[in-house]
Amino acid sequence: MTERRAIRVTGIVQGVGFRPFVHVRAVRLGLAGFVGNDERGVVVEAEGPGPALDSLERALAEGPPAALVTGVAAVRIAPRGERGFAIVPSAAHGSAATLISPDLATCADCVRELFDPADRRFRHPFLSCTNCGPRFTIVTGVPYDRGTTTMAGFPMCPACAAEYHDPADRRFHAQPICCPDCGPVLRFLPGWGPEVAEAAADPLTAAAEALLGGAVVAVKGLGGYHLAALAADPRPVGALRARKHREDKPFAVLVPDLVAARKLCEVAPEEEALLRSVQAPIVLLRRRGDADVAAAVAPGDRHLGLLLPYTPVHHLLSAAVGAPIVLTSGNVSDEPIAHRDADARERLAGIADAALVHDRPIRTRADDSVARIVRGAPYLVRRSRGFAPAPLPLAFGAERVVLGCGAELKNTICLLRGREAFVSHHVGDLENAETLAAFTDAIAHLGRLLEVTPELVAHDLHPEYLSTKWACAQDLPLVGVQHHHAHLAACLAEHGEPGPVIGIACDGLGYGTDDTLWGGEVFDVSLTGFTRVAHLEPVPLPGGTTAIRQPWRTAAAWLRTAGAELPGMPERIGAAWLAVQALLDSPLGQPITTSAGRLCDAVAALCGLRYRTTYEGQAAIELERLAAPGVTEAYPVSVHDQCARNPASPRVIMVSELVRAVVAELRRGVAAPLVAARFHNGLAAGLATAATGAARERGRDTVALSGGVFQNMLLLEGVRARLDREGLRVLVHSRLPCTDGGISLGQVAVAAATT
Ligand code: ZN
Ligand code: ZN
Ligand code: FE
Repeated sequence: MTERRAIRVTGIVQGVGFRPFVHVRAVRLGLAGFVGNDERGVVVEAEGPGPALDSLERALAEGPPAALVTGVAAVRIAPRGERGFAIVPSAAHGSAATLISPDLATCADCVRELFDPADRRFRHPFLSCTNCGPRFTIVTGVPYDRGTTTMAGFPMCPACAAEYHDPADRRFHAQPICCPDCGPVLRFLPGWGPEVAEAAADPLTAAAEALLGGAVVAVKGLGGYHLAALAADPRPVGALRARKHREDKPFAVLVPDLVAARKLCEVAPEEEALLRSVQAPIVLLRRRGDADVAAAVAPGDRHLGLLLPYTPVHHLLSAAVGAPIVLTSGNVSDEPIAHRDADARERLAGIADAALVHDRPIRTRADDSVARIVRGAPYLVRRSRGFAPAPLPLAFGAERVVLGCGAELKNTICLLRGREAFVSHHVGDLENAETLAAFTDAIAHLGRLLEVTPELVAHDLHPEYLSTKWACAQDLPLVGVQHHHAHLAACLAEHGEPGPVIGIACDGLGYGTDDTLWGGEVFDVSLTGFTRVAHLEPVPLPGGTTAIRQPWRTAAAWLRTAGAELPGMPERIGAAWLAVQALLDSPLGQPITTSAGRLCDAVAALCGLRYRTTYEGQAAIELERLAAPGVTEAYPVSVHDQCARNPASPRVIMVSELVRAVVAELRRGVAAPLVAARFHNGLAAGLATAATGAARERGRDTVALSGGVFQNMLLLEGVRARLDREGLRVLVHSRLPCTDGGISLGQVAVAAATT
């Protein structure tokens, strides 16, 4: 029997080839009707037998590869006896509910054309289609159209225009399409500096030759400039480190294909899927012993970050070089990645010997995203290019438009529109004028694209964060959200959980409600509030934030607190050791912290691993690497009532016991890798014991884990396995990182739930 259904599809469904996709499916199923766009998404009316309509609805829920379907709603209407299936013109154009797609890695069809000598786009560095290509990084405004992208300056040639207007073509309404006749132009500059160098005739071959000859080449990519060097050659990789002032932090490596990836790393099926996904992030993989990369690529690391080509330029360059290439962000040390041509030329001239550039402007800077697979699921280190600004559907909504302005480091911002949260690209560390400008631009630009104006601002409690200061300067209602409440709320929001649950926040430093610096916390937590039920034993932080770059200072504080001594250490530090002892004796006192990150730093210093760091979290990361694998013993640690007379006061995880065990074993000459492993196990056990106790007392069956220190796989797995054994349900992040990059979502979630 013939039925007719009106079907509405919402999500990222425009500019991603949805209408041609529906057309092909409907015709194949023998259905009549039409498909079109309106201001809320895609509308379909289809007529035919019920089972065929059911199949169409299932196809709609999947969508084409680039789509992100958040809803399919169908209602039965009266049949019209129509014949044929049509794509109809858009009813209204680009209004409030449209979504801007993230950038999409080059699809298989386009790669085939790229390497097909018979195709008119053979070796065209800017080919794309409705399923792939630049999106968010080139969008300048709404409605999403050619004219509101940085392709506006490249009028389509007749051949491209014909494809663009043909509903049956796979480039139907693909805004960035172009060809060698009408698209941007790639240029290779053999020298790079203030004076313009002569461009080479065949830019890709010239760039490949330069790389093979040992040059550092700046490559203008999708979301910014990269610096490239031959990964197997120690000379350019070393030069890149020295010129970038990046001493130890690992570099990512671009490999031409999976065969090349497998020569460097072990690649499990889930990891392969992540490498090949439309987001195409850098994936952290277990490195093979015989991996042929220079030692300076990732010093001392058992992992390598690999990525596959995700734009035609990267495909062509990779194929021309035929070997793995280091691809790292185009910047000096902690600055944001360069994305505008003049600025890049100025900042990168002293680093790159040559440059591969093009004339398509980048509107929005987007760093490569970084992820790993944990227990078969993606676990993000950085969420940016390819992911942002895809919406995260929430289980709750807000009447007002809420802005979460994030934290200080690894800043992102988040806008809540209805029930959808839009977390921005990675803005960076708000430590200089340039990132602060990027921060205000991110807020303004994302607001413009979503056609919303913030009506409420959620911010961190830290009075010195530039994001907090910015929030307080706005003439808008404010909601202050404690840093670790925001971390755990982000984890809850991702899982559609309102709480209450028990939450463990393992972090660097976050401002607490008692004006101390928290970071090893157990909360009874929901979106609307939290109770601090346990925390790590507090310790002074001598010299405040100086201790972040000098872990030996926290080690000195822990030795004092634990009443322990480590012979030799004061001598190795020298005069500064005595100065810190004086600080610890000073009646003025030092900032107090319960940070798990600073504790790991301190133990790294006790193990003699590192006294001074060159990037955030370095000592803790190296301690994790040092730990001997497969060790199950743990140093004992107890959980105490802080104040027996006041049962409401938080329990304390007695870190002093851990520190005394570390020192005793080091003094006995136990090898540092064993000490590191037993320390991690002890800390994980302490946190898990406190969380389990709190869950039993308060009748909770779920524990959420968040905070940047949960990038440490030994702690993550150590805590998780212990909670699993207790029969507790464990929530970890999978759509946002556990770092401060997730804070903006947590702020929005709390603000929406409490106002
Ligand atoms: Zn494509
Ligand atoms: Zn063209
Ligand atoms: Fe944090």
